[in-house]
Amino acid sequence: MERETEVVIVGTGAAGLFCALQLPESTKITIITKAEAEGSDSFLAQGGICMLRSEEDYEPYFEDTMKAGHYKNNPESVEMMIRSSQEIIDLLIGYGVEFEHQDGKLAFTREGGHSKPRILFHEDITGKEITGKLLEQVKKRSNITIYEHTEMVDVLCENNICYGIIALDSRGGVTALQAGHTVLACGGIGGLYRHSTNFSHLTGDAIAIALRHHITLKDVNFVQIHPTTLYSEKPGRRFLISESVRGEGAVLYNAKMERFVDELLPRDVVTHAILEQMEVDDVPYVWLSMEGIAKKDILGHFPNIYKRCLEEGYDVTKECIPVVPGQHYFMGGIQSDLEGRTSMKRLYAVGETSCNGVHGANRLASNSLLESLVFARRAAMDMAQAEPQKLAEENTMFHQETYTDLKKLRQENRTLVLQEIERMKKEYEQQHNHDLKCG
Ligand SMILES: Cc1cc2nc3c(=O)[nH]c(=O)nc-3n(C[C@H](O)[C@H](O)[C@H](O)COP(=O)(O)OP(=O)(O)OC[C@H]3O[C@@H](n4cnc5c(N)ncnc54)[C@H](O)[C@@H]3O)c2cc1C
Repeated sequence: MERETEVVIVGTGAAGLFCALQLPESTKITIITKAEAEGSDSFLAQGGICMLRSEEDYEPYFEDTMKAGHYKNNPESVEMMIRSSQEIIDLLIGYGVEFEHQDGKLAFTREGGHSKPRILFHEDITGKEITGKLLEQVKKRSNITIYEHTEMVDVLCENNICYGIIALDSRGGVTALQAGHTVLACGGIGGLYRHSTNFSHLTGDAIAIALRHHITLKDVNFVQIHPTTLYSEKPGRRFLISESVRGEGAVLYNAKMERFVDELLPRDVVTHAILEQMEVDDVPYVWLSMEGIAKKDILGHFPNIYKRCLEEGYDVTKECIPVVPGQHYFMGGIQSDLEGRTSMKRLYAVGETSCNGVHGANRLASNSLLESLVFARRAAMDMAQAEPQKLAEENTMFHQETYTDLKKLRQENRTLVLQEIERMKKEYEQQHNHDLKCG
């Protein structure tokens, strides 16, 4: 692996790839990923990506996002995301992304928490369509190099200035990669949980590194649990049954085959109702029925869910499937401003790893791909406008011996992140109880 670059981006999800594409073609960019380039949660997104359809929908869209986030959102970030959405969709279409159409116009679907249909989709593999096309574009750019199976183990920094990263390369060597700017686009934390829809290699490494270097974090107590993942006793990633299935008419049943919740309420409310129902019924799942959706619509809109459930032994056109809540999304992360800047100079954070307050306490469905893209672009524009950054004159920041026992370091990182989440949860609850008493 090279030793110097202008911009290093950690992560090949939608945020990392889009950031690279938005930087000038004259900038030398290095992207690394822990897994293969396609191994990111962005490829897994099923439901879709939100877009502001018209000015009349601005207020309802804003309100839906704030309401889902329990009004803990940063209104400026929400406004920026919604206002940028049409431009982002135009850019995606320019990169060859295909969205579903109806009568020659873009088709929109709806998910839990949305008062109107405003979600663009591509079958039930929207994430693969978007991120696959972004990856294709990145591969065409001669200024961008991707290193797969290369893991960031630390950032290179001194006096709160970031000078690049320290990486474990695919041959097992630990190297310092100096960069003018560093972008953390490392995704979520699902790999830290037993039940999660995320890839298991997404273990919140950037969050642990931030904690070690006192880089400011925000809202790390806000972890989203998705109400409906396909129940299985097998180990590994849980298969997500997208919210848009409920948006199109699927319903939830308890053990007596009775409905027990409005399926289109925000995720945390539906999750809570399911967990309560599981306790009442004393079973580890509830039932999801798609009987209200025409077979042709199931096959047309949800072919991937149909196929995957068949593999697990369920024909969703004929029978209910067992579902259970699972860890799904991390609303908190490394605090970033509207330009993706963190509290450390020359260090940016974008996508799920970052937290600019868009999602508040709970993400509204299909806002995360959009949020990743909007702020990745803004970070790229900010870097492009900055003066060229000098690399460190002498590399005194890299001490090889610190990285001899990486297994131990990874274990310590996991503990560090989980402990911080628990600490912040307790702090938040105490504050909440105090506010209730006083208020
Ligand atoms: C099953 C599922 C369905 C979803 N459906 C939707 C949806 O319909 N709509 C929507 O808007 N959102 C959806 N989401 C959420 C959305 O996909 C993610 O929030 C978003 O794609 C995050 O993008 P990202 O680029 O920040 O991270 P990711 O796409 O997760 O990419 C993270 C990257 O960082 C790399 N990385 C991590 N740590 C390191 C390290 N230490 N060193 C090197 N590389 C590292 C990983 O290898 C990976 O390349 C869904 C998520 C899941 C799991």
